[in-house]
Order: sequence, then C-alpha cells, then structure tokens
Amino acid sequence: MGMFDYFYPDPPIECHHPECRGLLRDWQGKYAGNCLFQWHQGRIAPIDQVASEDCKLDRARLHEIRLPINAIIIAGWGSCDQCGSYAQFLIECSTDAEGCWKNTRILANISPASQIAEGCAAV
Ligand SMILES: [Zn+2]
Repeated sequence: MGMFDYFYPDPPIECHHPECRGLLRDWQGKYAGNCLFQWHQGRIAPIDQVASEDCKLDRARLHEIRLPINAIIIAGWGSCDQCGSYAQFLIECSTDAEGCWKNTRILANISPASQIAEGCAAV
C-alpha cells in the first residue's frame, strides 16, 4: 500500500548539512495506523491528516485516534525545509502507556529502506 504517517519531533531535528539551518520535517513512519496522520511529539491525537477534505476523518474521529501504547515507531526520510535533502538516519518515536509520543531517539548509520521494511513486516 505504501501508506505511512508523518511524524514531527519536538524539538525538531536540525538538518545535517553544516551550511544549512533548516529543520527536518515530514518524517515517515509505519505502524498499524498508516493513514497519513500527522503526529506531533507530545500530542495525544494527530494534529491533522494529509488527505483531501472528502477523504479525511472528521475532527471528532481524528481526536480519538491514538498511537500504539508503549511502542517504538521507526521513522525515516525526514526532509529539510530549507535545502530539501533527506535525513541520513532514522528516528525512534516511543510512546507512553497512553499512546502519547514522548521521546525521540536518533538512530545512526542504518539503511532507511531495510528498517522501514522491517517495521512494516512486524505489524
Ligand atoms: Zn538542509
């Protein structure tokens, strides 16, 4: 299906290019949801859904959506809002007992393709 959700770490992660002051946005992560929800670290529900208005869940439904509890969701392909380059690393988004995304950890030197594929297969 190629579906995923977007993850926005807070604070945002800076672009790895030394000359660039951009921030890495639109991290793509897979878990059981994968409906193009936009998750902001520290918020219990998605802040929005990347879909046309007629395909989106209504606000009330959207506010009821949760991430899995005590889970680690791997996300990759964060892209810089200034230079447009993609992150060379993955992040781990971990949720608490209520499904709220509380922590983000950077994973170094891992191939995004293989990690995303594994994360998907594990669901
Ligand atoms: Zn950049």
